[in-house]
Amino acid sequence: MRMSLFVKASPAAVKKAAAFIRGGGTAVFPTETVYGLGADALNAKAVARIFEIKKRPRFDPLIVHVASIRQAKTLARVSAGAEALMKRFWPGPLTLVLPKKKIMPDIVTAGLATVALRMPNNPTALALIKAAGTPIAAPSANSFGSLSPTTAAHARNQLKNGPDIILDAGRTRIGVESTVLTFRKGKGFILRHGGLPREEIERVTGSLDTALKGGKKPASPGQLIKHYSPRAPLRIIRATPLKPGKGLRYGYLAFTTRPSAAVKIFRILSGSGNLEEAAANLFSHLHELDAAGVDIILAEPVPAKGLGRAIMDRLKRASTPEKKRGGV
Ligand code: AMP
Ligand code: MG
Repeated sequence: MRMSLFVKASPAAVKKAAAFIRGGGTAVFPTETVYGLGADALNAKAVARIFEIKKRPRFDPLIVHVASIRQAKTLARVSAGAEALMKRFWPGPLTLVLPKKKIMPDIVTAGLATVALRMPNNPTALALIKAAGTPIAAPSANSFGSLSPTTAAHARNQLKNGPDIILDAGRTRIGVESTVLTFRKGKGFILRHGGLPREEIERVTGSLDTALKGGKKPASPGQLIKHYSPRAPLRIIRATPLKPGKGLRYGYLAFTTRPSAAVKIFRILSGSGNLEEAAANLFSHLHELDAAGVDIILAEPVPAKGLGRAIMDRLKRASTPEKKRGGV
């Protein structure tokens, strides 16, 4: 066990975190999606620490965070189509998978010829990247496969083998990870639904495909396995009526309305049925249900449109039955 410094995000704290990153260390920092565990993306040894701390398999490539389109162009070949999306959506929850340049270490991309890039829309994150003077490779700041952290405390509780510093800037605004998009022959494919709804991207690109459907080889390593899971097993249910079974303590994740009075431990994603609010609450509610020590979590489905796609994606992966778990 290795303790981390835990500090409120401030200019002085950002400076300290940047010094750790420059020196080959690691820092947890807020983004608008979830908290990230970052290291200098150009330092393979520093990036290796991320995999150790998270217990993340080496075949799962990282997202590299940049502070400008100009910086992105030093790391990857940016097509006109990709640049148009950057101009429209960066900073924001859109990750673009692009042909990498030589400068990117293989450990970041898991040996792929492409690299995933994103410019986060969070002042602390952008200040950190600028102060570090280097792009920052950063997956979510949780142990591999578990619930993503939407507060600094979530990160601290999961990463026992300490990053050097944790910057605390309160709850993240969006609450689900970025949307990951790639291009094949100039056409866009969504590799992961996330914080930027498909509909918004399609206003710029026209209709998009979801590359993950079918096919044996995953287009995006790390996306086919069980993921985003609470400690308690999770089941998606069709709708209420719910009969709490004998002896089991149920946690219930409702979309808009509270379940029957028999269910004592529950959280509501959004009383008004707002999918943005629901996404922002998703992981923190699951963290809380887990912390209540329930035996099983029952989750209601949400409409699969807008941010609802990202929510359903997370719930489905969290609920993968035991026998289907395991690597890709
Ligand atoms: P995260 O776990 O939030 O850091 O997201 C990283 C995910 O982005 C990985 O698990 C992959 O699914 C995807 N990804 C990152 N780099 C690439 C890449 N070069 N090609 C395809 N997918 C990628
Ligand atoms: Mg993650």
